[in-house]
Amino acid sequence: MNTDEPIEARIEALKKTRNAVVLVHNYQLPEVQDIADFTGDSLQLSQQAAKTDADVIVFCGVRFMAETAAMLSPDKTVLMPDEHAGCPMADMISAEQLRQFKQAHPGALVVCYVNSSAEVKAESDYCCTSSNATAVVNSLKDAEEIIFVPDKYLGQYASLQTRREMILWNGYCHVHVRIGESDIVRARAEHPDALVMVHPECTEPVRELADAVLSTGGMCDYAKQSDSDEFIVGTEIGILHRLRKENPGKRFYPASEAAVCPNMKLTTVEKILWSLESMQYQIKVSDEIRSRAIRAIENMINTTA
Ligand code: 13P
Ligand code: SF4
Repeated sequence: MNTDEPIEARIEALKKTRNAVVLVHNYQLPEVQDIADFTGDSLQLSQQAAKTDADVIVFCGVRFMAETAAMLSPDKTVLMPDEHAGCPMADMISAEQLRQFKQAHPGALVVCYVNSSAEVKAESDYCCTSSNATAVVNSLKDAEEIIFVPDKYLGQYASLQTRREMILWNGYCHVHVRIGESDIVRARAEHPDALVMVHPECTEPVRELADAVLSTGGMCDYAKQSDSDEFIVGTEIGILHRLRKENPGKRFYPASEAAVCPNMKLTTVEKILWSLESMQYQIKVSDEIRSRAIRAIENMINTTA
């Protein structure tokens, strides 16, 4: 091994030896985004994981994303460079809690946000992401009752968009609830020509102040296609790197500098190199859980195909 070489070059060489692909979420550190084979939102990353020919997927995101990739590609090795990168919102509901919730609402269909454990997905009928929650709920025409877990804000957004009442779990993202109405009001006053885009994990008053409510992938498309040159961005600030890189002539302002997901920052280029060298940490989901959870994931992919 030539340790004089830059880390990026060593990662590139190891990717070839291992036949590996590096999938990176839009919130990752700039230098991690810069070595990605593909950068995207949760849905786009799971689609990439499902179709790649690589033998190894290095997943730079949080655990539920790597677990979803492992379930979609059970014959591949899925690596997480930092095994502690979790999602506190996903941890707000356990499989046992969901089983009890279902017992209290017999007959209800369960839609779970992809930000959930494999065990929770195994108890669910449909999965969804921030980019397709509305389409998934819209497809459930015959359902008498719908339970939505764990994010009450995404659930409420999908409910308003589809005019379907849903039974919501009381979960939320601690990063997105830190973006307040006053942040949007202040940012608009500072940048009166800017369009405001926010993530559906934001609270309802914040969403109401926005020009567009979008997944992170949706924000990247919106910024590219829009005639506007200025945007206020109401989501985790890691996405600003990609937005600025892809739109050099446009300006992007964070709605709140406090919108930082510490778990998304645990992955570094050094840890990616180590991960490829040591083939750790391998993310595995048991066959028993996978066989039940995959239905919910495939139901989502088929709804939005
Ligand atoms: P996206 O699917 O929109 O990228 O969102 C993932 C996420 O964790 C939002 O906090
Ligand atoms: Fe989870 Fe929120 Fe971090 Fe997304 S930003 S991974 S929902 S804690």
